[in-house]
Amino acid sequence: MGLIRHYDVIIIGGGIGGLMCAYRLNEACPEKKVLLLEQGKALNKRSCPIITGKADHCLRCDPCAIMKGMAGAGAFSDGKYNITTEYGGWLPEFVKEEKVMDYILQADRILQKYGAGKECYEPDDELKLLCLQHDLHMQQGRVKHLGTDANYKTMLKLIKAVEAHTEVLTEAVVKDVDRDKHIVSYTRKNREETVSGSVIVFAVGRVGNRMFEAWCDRNGIRRFNNQVDLGVRVELPYEIWKAFSSRIYEPKILVRSRQYGDIVRMFCFNERGHVVTENTDGILTVNGHSYKEESKKSRNSNFALLVSTRFTDPFNKPVEYARSVAALANQISGGGVIVQRLGDLERGRRSNEQRIQFGYVKPTLNAVPGDLSLCIPKRQLDDIVEALHSLDAIAPGTANADTLLYGLECKYYSSRPDCTDFEIDNAPGIYALGDGAGFTRSLSQAAANGLLVGDIIAERKED
Ligand SMILES: Cc1cc2nc3c(=O)[nH]c(=O)nc-3n(C[C@H](O)[C@H](O)[C@H](O)COP(=O)(O)OP(=O)(O)OC[C@H]3O[C@@H](n4cnc5c(N)ncnc54)[C@H](O)[C@@H]3O)c2cc1C
Repeated sequence: MGLIRHYDVIIIGGGIGGLMCAYRLNEACPEKKVLLLEQGKALNKRSCPIITGKADHCLRCDPCAIMKGMAGAGAFSDGKYNITTEYGGWLPEFVKEEKVMDYILQADRILQKYGAGKECYEPDDELKLLCLQHDLHMQQGRVKHLGTDANYKTMLKLIKAVEAHTEVLTEAVVKDVDRDKHIVSYTRKNREETVSGSVIVFAVGRVGNRMFEAWCDRNGIRRFNNQVDLGVRVELPYEIWKAFSSRIYEPKILVRSRQYGDIVRMFCFNERGHVVTENTDGILTVNGHSYKEESKKSRNSNFALLVSTRFTDPFNKPVEYARSVAALANQISGGGVIVQRLGDLERGRRSNEQRIQFGYVKPTLNAVPGDLSLCIPKRQLDDIVEALHSLDAIAPGTANADTLLYGLECKYYSSRPDCTDFEIDNAPGIYALGDGAGFTRSLSQAAANGLLVGDIIAERKED
């Protein structure tokens, strides 16, 4: 192997999953030499031109500061930390629910050590009943709202703690992992480098999903995925959902559409927040943020309204499906994302600058006024409109004509590799965790997964 540097553990990805894994390895076995490779920038160098006000539309930076870099996709997130196993991922399919909860709480304690608050919103049975009375199904859980700014500061401190014992290389793009020799190839500052690791962990998040899937396919590793959620980000005056948000912070509601029987999910609620764009491998989609600081708050709240779409044989490329739909939205908006008033959508006409300007809801994102019916498939669009009217029954005003819909928003779920205790089958010593492996879809479960894999590796018998 010549001059190749060797590590006990190499972690690919500096999101919350990879960071927690590194953190636990140091706690459990500080003698191990650990390397963490992250393709994006250091957290304090991550800067999205839209957030800093230098651009009013996505410039498609590479690397995208929102999705890539230390602290991962969660870095500029609203920092909602869900203390529940009811949603946020599928870890309970691999590990007993109580154990998942224990790890979520362990991660919470670590975050608190680095500055996260203790305050929590509790479940609310009265609101759940109100939903049930309208055939709406609210998922319950305790939730902490750290806020984008507080979350950022906590992550800076956590990274510093990790860096004290783990070698961290940023702007290091992993290109390949040799399954048998455990050699990791990456590029950094235009140089190709290689390192080897006794154990390798893929913690690549959604943004690294395509690379991970391609690696699985090249190495004959079976993977499974048949779901994608796609739809819109809804923006409306914050007063409309205040009765919910003031009591539980985040309403997460499932609506079963009468027309098709599809499940439409309302989630990722941002009170007095901002709609933002997200660049996943060149495709622009939308998401939402909200700040804790009063001066950064808007007059609007926003939430995702997505239709869960499951495919059956012969189609098994749900991510490609969602990317194609989102690409169409990018294409017809001249390279951006679309915004449309619900009233215009229902009247079968596009929104234009004037209609948006005269509307009572002022958009927080400079998106292109257009017509979502030209890119969202009919079935999903019908589901979304029906769901808005169903939600209007518990939060009147939700289906107002001026309610803004931004498209497209999608949540891809990475396909899951066949594995045993997160060690990939047919790839001994190679583990996967977090959103990129299709095990989680939230900060809390990705963090829990990182700690859990850290413990598994620490207890691993050396070959
Ligand atoms: C805008 C936004 C808001 C969100 N808000 C919330 C919220 O409030 N609450 C919540 O629970 N969840 C939220 N989420 C989801 C949450 O951020 C993710 O569930 C979580 O970050 C997943 O953690 P992870 O470590 O698995 O992956 P990630 O955080 O995505 O981290 C993976 C890291 O791996 C790196 N990587 C990928 N490929 C390579 C490669 N080839 N070489 C080197 N590095 C690589 C990436 O650059 C990335 O930094 C939000 C997501 C977004 C985008």
